[in-house]
Amino acid sequence: ATPTSIMVGTGRAAQLGVLFRQGDALQTLQSVKTVALDKTGTLTKGKPELTDLVLVGELTEDEVLPLIGAVEVRSEHPIAQAIVRRAELAGKLPSDLRDFQSHTGYGVSATVSDRKVILGADRLMLREGIDLDTTGPIAADLAKAGKTPLYAAIDGQLAAVIAVADPIKPGTPEAIARLHDLGLQVAMITGDNRGTAEAIAAQLGIDRVVAEVLPDGKVAAIDKLKEGGNRIAFVGDGINDAPALAQADVGLAIGTGTDVAIEAADVVLMSGDLRGVVNAIDVSQRSMANIR
Ligand code: ADP
Ligand code: MG
Repeated sequence: ATPTSIMVGTGRAAQLGVLFRQGDALQTLQSVKTVALDKTGTLTKGKPELTDLVLVGELTEDEVLPLIGAVEVRSEHPIAQAIVRRAELAGKLPSDLRDFQSHTGYGVSATVSDRKVILGADRLMLREGIDLDTTGPIAADLAKAGKTPLYAAIDGQLAAVIAVADPIKPGTPEAIARLHDLGLQVAMITGDNRGTAEAIAAQLGIDRVVAEVLPDGKVAAIDKLKEGGNRIAFVGDGINDAPALAQADVGLAIGTGTDVAIEAADVVLMSGDLRGVVNAIDVSQRSMANIR
């Protein structure tokens, strides 16, 4: 590619709110075959709401909500904020909390008012020896609706199945349709539940899903998508997306995301709208076409 065509392309992209941090990325982007997208905060708003609370034990909603709310006050996860907001509506949260633990990619636990509270994904319950046999169908229905099922156990007994739902960003469906029009395959990488991820992928027409990825597993997920020499662009926003942004052939960070993600990316999208990804690829293809 000539320096002039790269300069022109970079300038045109900037006008569309797409910042190429190096000319290399403009050249590489036109050759990618798959665009992999982080789910939470990239495809979705990253602001989940608590939508369901199904009691499955002896405790009432008024007993369960303050206990789980008190634990989630200590967590930074967007899911935690959804639970705290809902629990606060039900009343004041207890503050006598000890032994708080954040199990990254799994959930949280603590002792609140002398009761042992465990809250998180099915894999956390399995690890803690909490029996989920009776709740499979409830969780499966929630996941089918694109909601993330979580479990709350109090003093070793399952107390509730909880669901949170994270709305899809308004520009996401059109962005995916346009990526398909350009002949690209679209993949999703997420730490979320497989059923939930597959329901959202089906709704959006996403071709491939890599779900239940642990926070340090996104690089391996990129490598898997690269198999067979497939060139990959990865789009993400979070701290745990940084290694995958570096590992992809082209990493695109959402400008409204974390600084760590932006630092690791080759391309920065000024807005959170995924149509910026399509604009970036479009400019790349046109600039390179002018050269040949
Ligand atoms: P993602 O960012 O894709 O949601 P994470 O690795 O942060 O992935 O979390 C994976 C899963 O772990 C979540 O979907 C949820 O089930 C569980 N989890 C993580 N943190 C919490 C929390 N603070 N409260 C409840 N569940 C949690
Ligand atoms: Mg994210």
